[in-house]
Amino acid sequence: MSLPKNSHEIRTLETVYRAFPIAPSSKGRKIIARAFEMARIAHDGQTRASGVPYVQHCLATAEILAGIGMDARTVAAGLLHDVPEDTEVTLETIQKEFGRDTARMIEGITKLGKMKLRGDAEDFKLENWRRMFLAMGEDIRTVIIKLADRLHNMRTLEHLKPEKQQRIANETMEIYVPIANRLGIGEIRAALAENAFKYLDPENYQKTKKISQEMLSKKSAYLKRALEEMKTLLKDKHVKYVDIHGRAKAIHSLFLKIQKHDGDVNRVYDIIAVRVIVPDVTSCYEALGIIHRRYRPMVGRIKDYISLPKPNGYQSLHTTVFGPEGQILEIQIRTQQMHDEAELGIAAHWLYEERKHKSWRAYLDPRKKNDDISLEVKWARQLREWQKDLGNNPDEFLEGLKVDFLKNHIFAFTPKGDVIELPEDATIVDFAYAIHTDVGNTAVGARVDGKMASLDTIVRNGQIIEIVTDKNRTKPNTNWLGFVKTSHAKGAIKRQNKKEE
Ligand code: MN
Repeated sequence: MSLPKNSHEIRTLETVYRAFPIAPSSKGRKIIARAFEMARIAHDGQTRASGVPYVQHCLATAEILAGIGMDARTVAAGLLHDVPEDTEVTLETIQKEFGRDTARMIEGITKLGKMKLRGDAEDFKLENWRRMFLAMGEDIRTVIIKLADRLHNMRTLEHLKPEKQQRIANETMEIYVPIANRLGIGEIRAALAENAFKYLDPENYQKTKKISQEMLSKKSAYLKRALEEMKTLLKDKHVKYVDIHGRAKAIHSLFLKIQKHDGDVNRVYDIIAVRVIVPDVTSCYEALGIIHRRYRPMVGRIKDYISLPKPNGYQSLHTTVFGPEGQILEIQIRTQQMHDEAELGIAAHWLYEERKHKSWRAYLDPRKKNDDISLEVKWARQLREWQKDLGNNPDEFLEGLKVDFLKNHIFAFTPKGDVIELPEDATIVDFAYAIHTDVGNTAVGARVDGKMASLDTIVRNGQIIEIVTDKNRTKPNTNWLGFVKTSHAKGAIKRQNKKEE
């Protein structure tokens, strides 16, 4: 699967079909064809700012959705996403023709589209996030369609007036990029960030792009030799791999990384990296071992994001080695599923649903089989929890949203090895409530990596935390409200105290 490239060619229904990583069923094609007919007729006579027929935008949105492996219904909804807002055809007609499911997705998009700037910039941002969040809670596909829609709008931003370009690029960087990141859709996040960067900071954009291109042309012959050498190495040692390829760092990420190193490009080792895709988790570690035995690793550059995933769920092994011909090279090792999830995030769920039907099951990591509580379910559950905790108080709702949704998350462990995900700066009390409300309510202390720690201690990534409880305790300390970070803990503390009163 891959994100369709930016293209100025005239799109057709065929372009959309071709974008699918797995060819759609004849039933799926029929739904898409019907949606296209409706969109074509409804938008007849309308044009985009570039002068092309409006339906080209609908096709481009659908093509992006197909490219990241979304299901036929979502692709059809992508074709229809601007129909109720911009044409005579109503949502009721769409519902009659395509059913409730599709109509609701489009209704969600229409609602998201009605955001108008009111109040100061900060209010606007929060309101945007709130709406995105609510739409997500209803059907996460709505937000994925919105991201595809925005990506095509960004790709055709050149046709708008400079003032509008700035506003839309800014909104994209502030709202859509973090949301794509939170959903783990790396491909869309990178494409949105690159396009927004181009308008917001053209000078640095061009500079960074030049660095990337120069590095690519300088290294491409070497990279080819290095890939061959590593393929032979793994084959000789009988480690199976699905694919080995090179990748260039996305422009905006590269810019941020160079900045982090005070502008010193030479300290950025992963402008170009080698990706090793293997069939299962065991092979990841095997491949790492073999690579380290052949190429000397650099100290402090080995990262095990499989045991300790990144805040957005990203998993891989990373290492930097003195590679073939003694050149410094970053190598990323991951399973096919980790790879798909890194590029597609939550969208990978639909792709895997599709693969299951096509008996691509063998492709899946066997150790992950039981984890099939699937990303979507995990998300839906988390969103429901938030909504429940946040209740109807809009201020608290926004406050909770800021903390839980947008901050990066850290991972800590219970002594049994269960992973607890928390926002940055969360405390031991947040950890306790994340395990269970009763654990939170009766917490009196904690051992962090074996050492006693107070309840207001900030949790760090990778710590093992044991909560000490006292069953005789009936209500949590209201002082905790002064330092807890998650709305889940806040809500639980307030509820329990009310109950006791
Ligand atoms: Mn649109």
